[in-house]
Amino acid sequence: MNKIVTLIILLYCWSMSHSQNTPKPHVLIITTGGTIASKTNAPLIEGHELIQAVPELNNYATVEVDEFVNIGSSKMTPSIWLKLVKHIKSALDANPKIKTVIITHGTDTMEETAFFLNLTHHSKVPIVLVGSMRSSNEISADGPANLINAVRVGISPDAIGKGVLVVMNDNISAARDLLKMNNRRVDAFPSTELGYIGFCDPEKVTFYRSPIKRHTLKSEFDVYHLDSLPKIDIVQDFAGFDPKILTYFTDRPNQGLVISSFAGGRMSSGLGQIFNYPATHKPIVISSSIKSGRIMGSNPEGTPVIIANDLPSNKARILLMLSLTKTKDTKKIQDYFNQY
Ligand code: ASP
Repeated sequence: MNKIVTLIILLYCWSMSHSQNTPKPHVLIITTGGTIASKTNAPLIEGHELIQAVPELNNYATVEVDEFVNIGSSKMTPSIWLKLVKHIKSALDANPKIKTVIITHGTDTMEETAFFLNLTHHSKVPIVLVGSMRSSNEISADGPANLINAVRVGISPDAIGKGVLVVMNDNISAARDLLKMNNRRVDAFPSTELGYIGFCDPEKVTFYRSPIKRHTLKSEFDVYHLDSLPKIDIVQDFAGFDPKILTYFTDRPNQGLVISSFAGGRMSSGLGQIFNYPATHKPIVISSSIKSGRIMGSNPEGTPVIIANDLPSNKARILLMLSLTKTKDTKKIQDYFNQY
């Protein structure tokens, strides 16, 4: 009996020392600001302070913090996206031990940054974006739990090959599917038509499916050598759209337009006049402002029109920007919209 007790104690001691010696995965946390880095009525918290406030992260990983920018994400720009994707590449090239890159980010443009990285990050190292809806000093702030969950997701072997992921409120979304639907609540990113791809439960992270649209290693868009991205505007339709507004958009030095139309791609007669303007040799992507379902149809022969399928206008804009880095041929651009 004594021998059995001794053996159990020895095994316990061995497993404790073994678990302490097992190296934890190396995780790079890039901070960019947002509510997750905010305190009510105070300046944004610096990156290292944000991470230090969640010491439990050290139970899961060896964490390296890198403050990239510190802004509300309503101030995010395509030029920052370009710098960010290059920054991630340099960090991964410099340290092959990094298992995942976690990006703390405001929720206002989280779906755009996630989709941009989903199409431009050419590595199998998972990127996980995470934010919060409540500031760090509010009662039941959601930032710490979201951050821990993001790290748990990023180091999960199942995260590999799923494209850029977003973790909020215990749910894992694929970048292409993410949609902010609430101004305030912690479940601001509800499941969209295609559903979450996984969940973070206390003892386990579980994935249920993989996105099949092209992303990351299978994406053709290479922006590492670019200094800027094509300028694309979004035109929002509304009842009684005054066609004079179009002159502004067609005369501007943009390289294309995305229309956020009514359901099914239908347009007011005012906005419909876009096709009579001489400047319509610029590609025009038609997306719908309705939050689910796709627009039927394909790009009409001989027109500059591209159908966004189910992509909302903000993501259609990103895909058009990237498409124009490769071609001006609207048929080819439609092909991209069908694949990504
Ligand atoms: N103002 C915030 C932002 O940076 C909102 C948030 O993070 O939830 O997008």
